[in-house]
Order: sequence, then structure tokens, then C-alpha cells
Amino acid sequence: MPRRPLLLRAALALALLAAGCATTAPPSDAEAPPGAEAPGAQAASEPGASAPGAPAAPSAQADSAPKASAPGPAAGASAPVAPAPKPKPWRAEYRAGSSQALLDGVLVYLDRPAKGDWRAKTARPLSPDRRWTVAPLLEARTNALVRGRKVRVCLDAGHGGADSGALSPDRRTKEKEMTLDVVRRLRDLLRRDGAFEILLSRPDDASQPTLEERPAKARRWRADLFVSVHFNANPGSAARGLETYVFPARGMESTSYTGRRPSRDAGLSWNGNASDAGNVQLGFCIHRRLLAATRLPDRGLRRARWIVLREATVPAVLVECGFLTSAKDLAYLRTEAGRAALARGLYEGICDFAFGTMAPGLPARTPETASAPPPASATDPATPLRRPPTVDFVRDETLRGPRTDLPSPPDDPATRGAREAALRAAGLAP
Ligand SMILES: [Zn+2]
Repeated sequence: MPRRPLLLRAALALALLAAGCATTAPPSDAEAPPGAEAPGAQAASEPGASAPGAPAAPSAQADSAPKASAPGPAAGASAPVAPAPKPKPWRAEYRAGSSQALLDGVLVYLDRPAKGDWRAKTARPLSPDRRWTVAPLLEARTNALVRGRKVRVCLDAGHGGADSGALSPDRRTKEKEMTLDVVRRLRDLLRRDGAFEILLSRPDDASQPTLEERPAKARRWRADLFVSVHFNANPGSAARGLETYVFPARGMESTSYTGRRPSRDAGLSWNGNASDAGNVQLGFCIHRRLLAATRLPDRGLRRARWIVLREATVPAVLVECGFLTSAKDLAYLRTEAGRAALARGLYEGICDFAFGTMAPGLPARTPETASAPPPASATDPATPLRRPPTVDFVRDETLRGPRTDLPSPPDDPATRGAREAALRAAGLAP
């Protein structure tokens, strides 16, 4: 858009930067071209990835698990016919020299390029990534947040008041209105679920809390998690798709950082570092569910020191729910179904994190499913979410190399409770 007045563009860029809106596309575009959709499709075309991820898998697993375990002790010795169901392993793919990893088919940016030999097709993530990204996701056990009470979720609708945030090229769609719309839909889904208490950092269009105030509100209210909703903009670029941001773990850089030397920020400890493991778990849960619920391309789980993430003292995530500057994204986001699907994905991701029900093998996205209308559940908020059974994370067999730097999985029974047990204790069970 060379015709756009320079001043306007500069003002927009400033507003976006100040508000924590990612305009990081130029560097990341180089790494993740429009074909960023490809990783998902690629994973889907591989034998192991798509087959077990069929939509019916979770419920089938739920049905078969109790049956298999009940007769197990009695008939187990003589009947090899009914082996105990093995937890499905997570699938992790790395490429030597690349910071892009595919974890369960989801694009995740590593802090450093994976090490290995591309000819021998070996690659493994380096220590900081193993410790702060791979281990919390694939090596840790699922942690249920629920401990005898409702889960407190602070929802942050980006921008507001005089700050419109990003604008569509025709200026008809304002980011601040889109974020409030999605956050309200998400609030309704969480309310209907019954297991959540919700605080909106910005309840209406007029209010405009500062970036620091938003996580501060969550802190004062004693939130368990913080979810900030934004929409992206990159005038003049073809960028489109979903980006999910979490705070860089200790010693890590922002994904967009291109310096050769470690930045000063990376060496410091921030409020956001209080939840290094929880941040990446929440971000992954949400990003993965958003991809499954919508038809927006995958631009990856990324790291950035946005103020709202930096000042959050509980697991926090900032989601860029598509580009208002992309004609394709915009057409989708302007539909009720598109925004409902976003809210649905956010809700399911929050549930996965809060109840420890994150399991490998979500329905993989193929080009066909990506262009299909959103699933019925996305447009019908009354449909109760079918939660997969609680599954312990298992070690990923495709990961190669010495693993001595990985922390052993936390084995704290207090944090491993299944959703049902926790809800029963809270008097919330149906
Ligand atoms: Zn924004």
C-alpha cells in the first residue's frame, strides 16, 4: 500500500507496537512463508500422524479404557487378546539447522536451530529448548489446575477506548471490537461450562486499561491464568494465520530476535518467568485447539516479551487470531462462525490446560478440512465439549540423542488429579 499516507502508516505501526500487536511478519515470513500451512498438512500425510488423530479417537479411547482395565487384573495373565491400551506417544519432528519444530503437527518455534545432520536426517533440539519447550510439553505429566474450586480465568480483550488497534484496509473492522466480541463469546462458553470464574480486564468498548493494568487486575483477582486476545496486521504483506505468543523462558530470546549476541532482556528475570513451564503448556494447548477449531493457517507458537505477558504472574498467553490485513483472514473473521470457532478453540485449549486433558493426536488438518466449513460444534456453543480422558504425557520415541539434561517428570499427586475427581471435590460434578 504505497499510496497510504506515510504519517498514517507510521501512526498505525506505532500503535500496534505500543499495544503489543505483532508486526513481526517480515522476518518470520522468511521462515514461515504462506506454506506455513504445509507443516500441518505434511504431518497429516505421514502415516502415524493422521490415522490416530481421527475425530472419534478420544471418545473411542474413553470407551475402551475402562473396559480394558476392568477385566485386566483377572484375565490379564492368560488373555493377551485384550492388552491394556497404551498411551499414544507424542510426535515431535525437528529439522537440522531450523528453529521450526512440529510437535504433534503444531508449528513451534525453538529458541535455537535444532542440531543434527540433514543428510542423515537426524536432528534434536538444544538444551534450552529441551528444557523449556519440549520437556514441559512432551515430557511433563499433565497438570490439572483444579483443586477443589473453580478455575479463575482473566480474559483480556486487546486495545479498547481510544485505541482501536489494527484496522482492516477499508477501516470498517477494528481490532478492539473484534477482540471484545471473541472474548465475550469465550466468556459465555466458560460460564456455560460451570467450572470457571471469569474476569474481563476490559468489560466494554469504552474502557481502556493500560498494558500494565491488565495483568495487574488478574493478579489482584488471583487469577489462575491470563489470556489476551488480539488480531494481527501487516499492511502490504500477504501474511495470514494464527500466532500464539508466550513469554520467553529464562535465557531465551523473542522469536523475532535476530541479533548475534544474547540480548540484555534474555539475561534478566521477569514476572512472566514465574510460569516458564506453564506458559508454554497453556500456549501450546490453546494454539493447537485454535488450529483444529478454525481454518486459519498455522504461524506457530512463538515467544515475545509483550508487556501483558511480561507482567503476568500466572500462566499467560497472547493470541493473534488472524490478520485484519489479509483478505482471506478478514473474510473469515467477519463471519459469526469464524469468531465462534475462535472462541471455541480458545475454550477447548483452556480446558485442556486447566483439567490436564491435553493428549496427543488431535484431528490433523489437511487442505480439505482447512477449507471446509467450521465444525458444527464451533457454531453451536450449546454443544458440550467432549473431553478426552486424562492421559499422562509420555516420552516421545522419535526424539534422539542423549536426554540427560531433561528434568524428570513431576510426580506430584496433588497436581495430577483428573477433572472428574477435582470437580467432585469442588461439588461441581454433574
Ligand atoms: Zn493488538
